Amino acid sequence: MNNQEITQANKLRCPRSQLSYIKRNGHTYYGKQNHQCLMCGRQFVVREQSVSEDKRELIKSLLLERLCLRGICRVLKVSLLVAAQFCRTALSDHAGRFAVGRANRRRN
Ligand SMILES: [Zn+2]
Repeated sequence: MNNQEITQANKLRCPRSQLSYIKRNGHTYYGKQNHQCLMCGRQFVVREQSVSEDKRELIKSLLLERLCLRGICRVLKVSLLVAAQFCRTALSDHAGRFAVGRANRRRN
């Protein structure tokens, strides 16, 4: 670890103990840098900014094509939680489009 990486790591604080004794601890499945607190052992990933506008539009169009959410996550390397939260808002925007499918399924 060079000096720049040490100072960058020292800016981080553990979400549990709020201490800055942090080491880099490999990468997550989605390729994000994982960190571990040297005092309490808690592992965490620094939260990035929200998904870019281009990616949001792409997710929205893929959802409208009815691709599965997990498939979208794998291809775009977005976490399932982020995609699910975005999916909820995107589907509420297009609620009328999906209501037709639900109405056709009901048979009494
Ligand atoms: Zn800690």
